[in-house]
Amino acid sequence: MIEFNKNFNNLKKNYLFSEIARKSGEYKQSNPEKDIIKLGIGDVTLPICPAVINAMHSAVDDMARAETFKGYGPYEGYEFLRETICKYYKNFGVNIYPDEVYVSDGAKSDTANLPEIFELNGKVLIQNPTYPVYMDSSILRGNDISYINANEENEFLPMPDYSVKPSLIFICSPNNPTGAVYNKNQLKKWVDYALENKAIILFDAAYESFIEDETLPHSIFEIEGAKNCAIEICSFSKNAGFTGLRCGYVVIPNELKINGVKAGDMWLRRLAIKFNGTSYITQKGAEAALSPEGQNQIKKCISYYKENSKILSNTLNELNIWHIGGENSPYIWLKCPNNMNSWEFFDLLLEKANIVGTPGSGFGTNGEGFFRLSSFGDKENVLKAAERIKSIKF
Ligand code: PLP
Repeated sequence: MIEFNKNFNNLKKNYLFSEIARKSGEYKQSNPEKDIIKLGIGDVTLPICPAVINAMHSAVDDMARAETFKGYGPYEGYEFLRETICKYYKNFGVNIYPDEVYVSDGAKSDTANLPEIFELNGKVLIQNPTYPVYMDSSILRGNDISYINANEENEFLPMPDYSVKPSLIFICSPNNPTGAVYNKNQLKKWVDYALENKAIILFDAAYESFIEDETLPHSIFEIEGAKNCAIEICSFSKNAGFTGLRCGYVVIPNELKINGVKAGDMWLRRLAIKFNGTSYITQKGAEAALSPEGQNQIKKCISYYKENSKILSNTLNELNIWHIGGENSPYIWLKCPNNMNSWEFFDLLLEKANIVGTPGSGFGTNGEGFFRLSSFGDKENVLKAAERIKSIKF
């Protein structure tokens, strides 16, 4: 008799966002006159930039003419986009080639699906706290997970523990939820650790375009040796506002082989079985996002969000509230004042300031006592929120 995958029973009840919605909904119902400001969302709010919109309009027109109509495209994405992505990597001094790039419908599915090409005999390393997809997708596969403690002492940038023998290592930098970013020396230590253990790093660079500090790496391939042990996952969601359009990509270096077989060939085989490609119109939009005009417009959107981060970070500085993130990421990760736990602080912020944020405990046990604020909001609201936070007597 058929049964459901038993690993579903091992998933932790992730009630984070439904609980946030329930609590803020109830509060609004009892206080309909209150203007609630949302600083919890990980979704972008600014519209798609004109360069992308124009390219997509023109791609729609291509679909209307027999000579330019496109049916199924290549599983790995159109060459025009893969070439443009390679040119973009030159900004970081990284040489990659179109046959190493695999276009997708976004980083969420890539991070959840890539492990499928490996036989995971060793541990799957996941940081605590974490972007929940790494954990839940690993639990569903029944993997043997080992959690790495990210905490205040290591500024939420944990380093390898050589007593743990991994086969797969998830790293997200700039990090969601903490906003922490590994520097090149730190990433080199992870690369050395992966090479020594013959493990693979899945490097999630979804927030790379928020990096301002020129010394910080945008790509793991800026690190020597990474092409022999890492796969990079990136997305057009947070830089170009594609959360609703859906486009991302994976970079699998040709050097990355197991027993002489290229990891890229295995991924392409898997794509051919399970994926029929990202739409032509979306890929044309993504190409335009990486054009000089698109980059100019995108940078303005990122600066807008970064200003929000600065406003929030200055406010927390004034109040002497410990926090990291914001400078090179859209997220600010703060320590709840007066030893409050994450949900106590959520309630206080909602009731005293009518602000909704995200309790850190929803991202893992080490997130308890911490809280995430997002800068993906409206500047007027962020300014209002900053004043309200200042008026709370902590
Ligand atoms: N990776 C991280 C770390 C994220 O925070 C998110 C979205 O919030 C994603 C991946 C998902 O990106 P996409 O919209 O491309 O699926």
